[in-house]
Amino acid sequence: MARRIALAGIGKIARDQHIPSIAASDDWELAATVSRSGGIDGVENHKTLDALLAARPDIEVISLTMPPGPRFAAAKAALEAGRHVMLEKPPGASFAECGTLEREARERGVTLFASWHTRHAARVADARDWLAGKRLKRLAVTWCEDVRKWHPGQEWVWEPGGLGVFDTGINALSVVTEILQEDIHVTSSDLDIPENRQTPITARLAFHHPDGAEVTAYMTWRHDGGEVWDIEAETDDGTLLLSEGATILSIDGARVSDEGEDPGEYARLYAHLARLVDAGESDVDLAPFCHVVDALSLGRRRRVDAFVEEG
Ligand code: NAP
Repeated sequence: MARRIALAGIGKIARDQHIPSIAASDDWELAATVSRSGGIDGVENHKTLDALLAARPDIEVISLTMPPGPRFAAAKAALEAGRHVMLEKPPGASFAECGTLEREARERGVTLFASWHTRHAARVADARDWLAGKRLKRLAVTWCEDVRKWHPGQEWVWEPGGLGVFDTGINALSVVTEILQEDIHVTSSDLDIPENRQTPITARLAFHHPDGAEVTAYMTWRHDGGEVWDIEAETDDGTLLLSEGATILSIDGARVSDEGEDPGEYARLYAHLARLVDAGESDVDLAPFCHVVDALSLGRRRRVDAFVEEG
């Protein structure tokens, strides 16, 4: 039987991905929403999370799709009400608050899933398997997109806690930390911050790798044309390229053939949530967020041209 789930924060990602993925899943029934702006036609809506938690004790899972700023208070309230919680990425606005939520979930015996949707892209598992046992020589992330397309009118990405380009770049780091078996850490970070904004529009990172491999990441939101979401890894036994957001895998320039239709990363994300709830487990890996926090801590900041959305 499908489990009842509620979505809180009906904005771009809820409409683009969460609602269709829940609708297509046999595991889930979208029983209600929490939305200050009205929610979705035909689905019960509550203006506040507290109102939903009070009115619907039968809804056991709350998926939080609002920006990271307001997410901690919502997650804490849902956990305190004994509900399982899924967090969109990034898991919070600060590192410590994620630990608080993890502890809260553990003490209450409920599931907390700090999701990383790009980890569920089609070829991530294959890339991890291919890299296993090989010696890494170089890994380069290139993650470029137009912020106007992916965050239209979203002021929160430019405010403290909004992460700027790391809101997107953290997706790449969620894949890197999944496919590499070795621990890496940021050693240098150059951040371009528009003179009228609080958060970076471009970041260049270098990482320490235990075997001395050269690990770098370039991410920018000032990018015209199509997205570039690539991770290239050169090893002692060939070169891997994960492209188009880890949906395509090539080895030494030859595309590895796809098998069957790809249900998409959010379908796998919700299937994983169902498994976690069934098993009474949590999945909270803060490594991608740790690298972003470190990049902000170590960042050498450069003021660059203002970013004006209509420009
Ligand atoms: P968004 O459209 O700006 O906001 C999502 C919704 O959250 C809003 O429409 C609003 O819904 C609610 N909300 C906004 N501010 C709030 C506040 N202060 N308090 C309570 N609710 C608030 O953002 P988004 O692009 O969907 O991103 C949301 C999260 O998903 C972010 O963490 C982002 O990193 C992640 N994400 C985004 C994308 C993307 O393509 N944009 C892709 C993957 C993941 P109501 O009007 O219904 O209350």
